[in-house]
Amino acid sequence: MHATLPLLEETDFPAIRRGKLETLQVNLGYRCNQQCLHCHVNAGPKRKENMERETAEQLIEFIKAANIKQLDLTGGAPELNPNFRFLVIEARKLDVHVIDRCNLTILFEPDQEDLAQFLADHQVEVVASLPCYLKDNVEKQRGKGVFDASLAALKKLNHIGYGKQGTGLTLNLMYNPQGPTLPPSQVELEIAYREHLQDFGIVFSNLLTLTNMPIQRFGSTLISKGEFEGYMQLLRDNFKQENLNNVMCRSLISIDWRGYVYDCDFNQMLNLPAMLSNQPKTHIKDLMQTNIDGKAIVIKDHCYGCTAGQGSSCGGAL
Ligand code: SF4
Ligand code: SF4
Repeated sequence: MHATLPLLEETDFPAIRRGKLETLQVNLGYRCNQQCLHCHVNAGPKRKENMERETAEQLIEFIKAANIKQLDLTGGAPELNPNFRFLVIEARKLDVHVIDRCNLTILFEPDQEDLAQFLADHQVEVVASLPCYLKDNVEKQRGKGVFDASLAALKKLNHIGYGKQGTGLTLNLMYNPQGPTLPPSQVELEIAYREHLQDFGIVFSNLLTLTNMPIQRFGSTLISKGEFEGYMQLLRDNFKQENLNNVMCRSLISIDWRGYVYDCDFNQMLNLPAMLSNQPKTHIKDLMQTNIDGKAIVIKDHCYGCTAGQGSSCGGAL
């Protein structure tokens, strides 16, 4: 795989600082039952990195100390980590909103038969990747058999109330483009998704669009095809100043499977730790008494992926 960081080091992206910290985004490890082409984590079934209980306990302590409002669990497939359910249960006891970034097919993995009900019982918001409503496009990106399994998983979630009004169970779908283009309008695409998924009897809460980041597997593919520079130019040409105030790193920190802190998940994947102490890397256990509001954010050229067009974040368009 080609390294992308050397191509992103030199940047004229504007300096940004942290606002109020509200969200703890936690990457529980890189193991996943899938191996998607666009994956910025390079996750897959053979990855061994997995968060341990001691780190998960430190995260709960941090949530209490920093009065965190939202816990966003990602991976890999976060549900494969034995501490996933511990984190959900403990965070919900503190009335923290919990998001599970779910790849849908995980619901049919061995030992996960009760996962959907567990999520519902704890009112976890499910954000599910479904990069298109057309089978061919989904399977090109996520692998054979993934489309049918994803629809079956959505039906299972709908069956227990997810995506239905009045249940309090949020089911958001996440779209990202197939290739080196910006996502279309989130509002218009949501209408198209609703129409197509209605044919299968599937409902959902909202569609979130995400711009592909020129890093890891997607970035490497761009380099192989000679499309890296063109994609970066597209991101730069579509820079929107108004998106800068809302980039997600202003209100979240991202934690890796060992407990180290980054300004966002993308920086985590580029091994660019947050500059929050005089150490090269800051561990979450050393942040318990520290107010990080106003600290400078580590930026590189990939940050243009967050500000292009309608903007992009883990919560969709900005
Ligand atoms: S399901 Fe998600 S974490 Fe797993 S390989 Fe695909 S993009 Fe990566
Ligand atoms: S890539 Fe990360 S650090 Fe850069 S603007 Fe986006 S969220 Fe912030």
